[in-house]
Amino acid sequence: MQHFPIFLSLSDRSVVLSGGGAAALAKLRLLLKTPAQIHVYAPDPAPEIIDWAAQGRLHLHRRALAPGDVTGAALFYAADEDAAEDERTAAIARAEGALVNVVDNLEHSEFITPAIVDRDPVTVAIGTEGAAPVLARAIKAELEAKLPATLGPLARLGKAFRKAAEALPLGRARRDFWADYYFRAGPRAMADGGEAGVAPALDDLLADHLSRKSRAGHVAFVGAGPGDPELLTLKARRALDTADVVLYDRLVTPGILELARREALMIDVGKEGFGASTPQERINDLLVEHGASGAQVVRLKSGDATVFGRLDEEIDALDGAGIGWHIVPGITSASAAVASIGQSLTRRGRNTSVRLLTGHDMQGFADHDWATLARPGEVAAIYMGKKSARFIQGRLLMHGADRATPVTVVENASRPDQRIVSSTLATLPADLAAADLTGPALTFYGLAPRAASHHLSDLHKELA
Ligand code: SAH
Repeated sequence: MQHFPIFLSLSDRSVVLSGGGAAALAKLRLLLKTPAQIHVYAPDPAPEIIDWAAQGRLHLHRRALAPGDVTGAALFYAADEDAAEDERTAAIARAEGALVNVVDNLEHSEFITPAIVDRDPVTVAIGTEGAAPVLARAIKAELEAKLPATLGPLARLGKAFRKAAEALPLGRARRDFWADYYFRAGPRAMADGGEAGVAPALDDLLADHLSRKSRAGHVAFVGAGPGDPELLTLKARRALDTADVVLYDRLVTPGILELARREALMIDVGKEGFGASTPQERINDLLVEHGASGAQVVRLKSGDATVFGRLDEEIDALDGAGIGWHIVPGITSASAAVASIGQSLTRRGRNTSVRLLTGHDMQGFADHDWATLARPGEVAAIYMGKKSARFIQGRLLMHGADRATPVTVVENASRPDQRIVSSTLATLPADLAAADLTGPALTFYGLAPRAASHHLSDLHKELA
């Protein structure tokens, strides 16, 4: 950061500008928004500058800048669009103690004027140290579109109310009040009754917040299901509606995140199976930190929070800190995936138990009771099983499993891009490689899609 951004008060200060053309006009339009005393030196000024001078908004001197003209000024703009003249005037200004900006000449400038988004008193200044003016303009355009026009008046009216709001205890209670004002009550009052409606709305809002008991923080472990927002429980929706803070995993889909309260703080603690991740300790700390501050926290986990979700570590951290919690169950991906292939997880006469397995654990590929699994009719739902497919195949075959045992992989269960790969224990690694799955996938050992099993039995009949 070569240029240090500051907001400089220009009341009772003077700013001098040399130049009367397009570059001068661009800078003057900005400077005229400030209370600065503006002096313009231009032998041949543009008509706008003459008008502004006639309106008393600036002092116009119809001659070239001379020594003594910049004495006492805070800032000087060399805006003659002529290298030699800019160099001459800048030298005078420097000698007389002003900070100098030579328009479109970063190298000879002591300060630069940022791109500005003006929602006075909210001002956003964007600078790229001259590296990428295009980027600054694009960011400005984006912010212009994003920041409502009422933000300025709301901030002005809010500022006058700061003293009254001190009736609320410093910290969370006061922050909640202001967030409520800027994002809900304020815009609504403005839309209903214009600026005149804002002061009474502030009074009402303060009374409302003062009557609130200080809340204890709480964490809800919420199962977000496999991805389809319609597979959320009503309790999950309600928790998202009222959340102050949402910590979510990588597999939680954008459609579900959108359902969170608009003011909620959204924290991505996504973990890749084998890649970069937020360390578990950091997630625990975040939960404790926000819970302790009195926030209603939603810890959103894909599927069901109690299935391969490292839930217990997080609960232990909260118990250790004395923070309350509860669990909202969700639809685990095995349930969604088995629905997509039209099968049951358990079936009379076939399997009286079903195992939920993980393909890998903290030590690497996970070990299981392979001998039992290898028996005919066994069914297992394998989570995180894509990378370990060959390992699992090897162990099962080694323990005598039938090579023709059906294996079905469901990628992106319940989502629009759901895919089903129907395979067998013998061909699983090859079929997976051919399918080139990129999304989360659930592997069923011992289950084939119902349509395919129909098809197969028809085939058997034909052969018979
Ligand atoms: N708690 C989650 C599981 C987390 S472990 C649950 O109950 O579903 C992450 C694994 O879940 C993924 O590697 C994948 O095997 C499975 N998974 C999650 N979402 C899935 C989806 N939409 N389709 C298929 N598998 C999914």
